[in-house]
Amino acid sequence: MPQAMEGKTLAEKIKAEVKREVDRIKQELGEVPRLIGILVGENKSSEIYLRTKERTAQSLGIISKILRLPESISQEELIARLQSLNDSPEIDGILVQLPLPSKFQTNQVIEAISPEKDVDGFHPLNLGRLLMNEIGLRPCTPAGIIELLKFYGVTIEGQEVVIIGRSLIVGKPLAAMFINENATVTICHSRTKDLSKVASRADILVAAMGRPAYIQSDFVKEGAIVVDVGINYVSDAALIEKIFGDDPKRRQDWQEKGYTIVGDVHPQAREKSSLFTPVPGGVGPLTVAMLMRNTLLAFKRRRHLS
Ligand code: NDP
Repeated sequence: MPQAMEGKTLAEKIKAEVKREVDRIKQELGEVPRLIGILVGENKSSEIYLRTKERTAQSLGIISKILRLPESISQEELIARLQSLNDSPEIDGILVQLPLPSKFQTNQVIEAISPEKDVDGFHPLNLGRLLMNEIGLRPCTPAGIIELLKFYGVTIEGQEVVIIGRSLIVGKPLAAMFINENATVTICHSRTKDLSKVASRADILVAAMGRPAYIQSDFVKEGAIVVDVGINYVSDAALIEKIFGDDPKRRQDWQEKGYTIVGDVHPQAREKSSLFTPVPGGVGPLTVAMLMRNTLLAFKRRRHLS
């Protein structure tokens, strides 16, 4: 029987550790970390994600606020705002909620964040430090995946890892992390030939594509570990039934919310695995927990605390 790797359990543990450390620092220094999330324009999902981050930070004793900027702001103005936050001694962590509206050059905006305050870990300097396997602020979702595998006692060294998806947020940094852990890594993308054949070599298969239930049984080697990063909001009742059959939980979800969240891995495909991450409740909760850990790390590094 495949076993689920519940990200929520580990996320709670990480958050409790961060809270303990924030409490200790507050007692000793009278200071706490401060995080600012920037939301440009109106985007319902981004608003929800950012509010979750803000609420989580506050629950751990981190001071957190959201800076809402109109879509009409220019790239130069946005960068100027970032520069003043970089210079502010009041701020330890800065994140720009992605995706930005299409008129912005996302890479330039990310590069304008001070690497010391870049709690998302997307700045080229932090990605470079990851490649060099030096301590630094790591991208949260991939870092959470590695933590989750270790938490469940998975051996990474020497394993054949296949990652489907090459984004800067998930696939590429995750590949570097697996290499740093001595795995053998293949990254696949939309131009990969014979995807199912490549995927079925994997001891650890990671799907980070954004394609609901795309990964079918023939992609998964018997007994493989399957990490499903996909978060797809599916509102089409016929598609939900096609994927989940008459699963009452999914039907209820759809009836209550008008959608259900579906991973990239088909439920039948994970039956072949030994360990898998459920969607929702697998990788998702870890992303925010790792962000909190990065905020604490940024605070400590700026003050040269161990
Ligand atoms: P992107 O759209 O940036 O990247 C998707 C990647 O998947 C691309 O590299 C793309 O290839 C590849 N891909 C898409 N379709 C196929 C296909 N048919 N065959 C092979 N490769 C394919 O997405 P993200 O990396 O930002 O996110 C991926 C998923 O993970 C999404 O569902 C997102 O919501 C979720 N996510 C979840 C997080 C969490 O906290 N759990 C955090 C971040 C993301 P190509 O490069 O060739 O276009």
